[in-house]
Amino acid sequence: MSKEPKKKEGIARLMELAGTKKAGLTAACTLSVLSSVFKIIPFFTIYCILQEIIRQFSSGQGFSFGNVSHLVLITAASAVLYGVCAYSSAMLSHGAAFDILYELRMKLMEKMGRISSGYYTSNTQGSIKKLLIEDVEQIEIFIAHSMCEVAAAIATPLFTIIVLFTVDWRLTLVSLLPIVFSFIILAAALKKPDGAKHQKNMADCKAAMEGTIIEYIHGMSVIKIFGGTKNAFKRFETDMNSFTKSVHDTAYYNANGMGMYYAFFGAQVLFLLPASIIMLNNAENYYEVLPKILFFLVICAGLKEPLENMMNVSIDSTKINVGLKRIDDLLAEPETVLVGNGKKLNSYDIAFDNVSFTYPNSDVKACDRVSFSLPQGSCNALVGPSGGGKSTIAQLLMHFYEIDEGIIKIGDTDICEITRSELVNNIAYVFQDSYLFNDTIENNIRMGNKKASFDEVRAAAEAANISGTIEALPDGYNTIVSDSTGLSGGEKQRIAIARAILKNAPVIVLDEATAYADAENEAKIQAAFSRLSEGKTVIMIAHRLKTIQNADNILVMNSGRLEAVGTHDELMENCSLYKDMVDANERRESWTMRKEAVS
Ligand code: ADP
Repeated sequence: MSKEPKKKEGIARLMELAGTKKAGLTAACTLSVLSSVFKIIPFFTIYCILQEIIRQFSSGQGFSFGNVSHLVLITAASAVLYGVCAYSSAMLSHGAAFDILYELRMKLMEKMGRISSGYYTSNTQGSIKKLLIEDVEQIEIFIAHSMCEVAAAIATPLFTIIVLFTVDWRLTLVSLLPIVFSFIILAAALKKPDGAKHQKNMADCKAAMEGTIIEYIHGMSVIKIFGGTKNAFKRFETDMNSFTKSVHDTAYYNANGMGMYYAFFGAQVLFLLPASIIMLNNAENYYEVLPKILFFLVICAGLKEPLENMMNVSIDSTKINVGLKRIDDLLAEPETVLVGNGKKLNSYDIAFDNVSFTYPNSDVKACDRVSFSLPQGSCNALVGPSGGGKSTIAQLLMHFYEIDEGIIKIGDTDICEITRSELVNNIAYVFQDSYLFNDTIENNIRMGNKKASFDEVRAAAEAANISGTIEALPDGYNTIVSDSTGLSGGEKQRIAIARAILKNAPVIVLDEATAYADAENEAKIQAAFSRLSEGKTVIMIAHRLKTIQNADNILVMNSGRLEAVGTHDELMENCSLYKDMVDANERRESWTMRKEAVS
């Protein structure tokens, strides 16, 4: 049996994601290693100069610059080369980091367009936002800064230790002793069984808390209207407390080990001082021993920093591991098949044949052995109590999800056999809450057909009963849609209808808005709907029964089952659920009218 290749993690996975930018990153790391070498060289050359000066003075010759001039030149050249290498490394790594950031975000956005829409309902907006902004940003910071630091953090101590050995192996061993002790302590601390569990718990609590904060902010207006501030804040407070607790637990868990590790880690001078006194006591020539001791005291005090960098880098890499895992999880999300075999649609009847479907995060059938067929050009309405399965039928037709059994056909073609673009080109979906992008009104309408001329955009707006409103705005069609544009919900929906009219797709799915602001808006929207629907196969999710009495077919959905199909008159006679709904609707409407008459 062939084994699945092991998934890469950490820096190896990052290099995989870096793709074509790998060469730039490798060059940046090489330059970073070179810069750390050039950083150490001046310490060594200054030690040699010092040794030469002390030797010349102690031998009574007096000082001659000629003997050290080459060392001075090497020192100056190394300092310059250090600057050049460090600068070039930073430039290259930042350039590569931003390119990778861009490519990764594009890859994630493309993927998000292909995965089931169920992903968006089971994941909070907050965590998706966090993934696209923070996790990707964390990777950028790691590539731009930490990756070269990894190279430098490994090269600097290694090169320093080589230099130390060439100067005096005994003092080198003494200065390495505390580091060896500290690593033994660290290894014991890391071996403790629950370390990784604590880290993961802390990252999960943080992600949950951030998700809740974003949701809390987004839902603030709703929370205030419904007076649920206390309850909503409770969840936020609980998440904050969980995060604080996870930080405490992790800190206490690591406190002893890490404390001892840090105490030993920087204790070179403590070990070097007694060793230096012993060496000085036994020395024959002070001028040989003294520069060495000074050199070790200076270098070893600075040895802590690159070694600490190495530790921080490993902490940073575990941080990006968590983000990388979330990114990989998204990239591994199953995609709705929609690759198709290039078949083209040529007729537009709609048929569901024994279709069953359960949402991925649920065990209740949202669509239970549903069969119907709607002729091309017919106007059809989906009605039924809330939760009956109306939106699910529309979403399954749009192939947002893979069905569990049955076949959905447009014309005589199974929708699994056509490409995504063929499907979306042939269906226009007008959502209840029509989303308008932060762009001009003209471009928002033109989304329906990118090639449309301005006259065609205006004609669509006229057919959707919205041109007058648009032209009354100071910038007309060039008005940028934003919260301050002042468009009402009904006006936004008419812009969305204009977009669908411009698209001129043969199949229309309409989600009727549950509430219109006023009667005038409602009449305008109904007229726009009628123009959009002319000659098309229409499925309308109807929340109000008054508007669909002339529909060719009314499908009554209840608890995922298709309870009845027929015209209004047929259903009034044969379907008690439909009749009850119509009666309730009429009572509600007359109640509303009476209320309006009173006010
Ligand atoms: P309707 O549009 O008639 O109000 P829906 O099609 O939205 O009904 O819902 C049908 C059933 O599927 C309901 O039980 C609802 O709770 C469930 N449902 C809808 N969307 C999801 C979802 N994204 N995840 C899980 N269950 C869902």
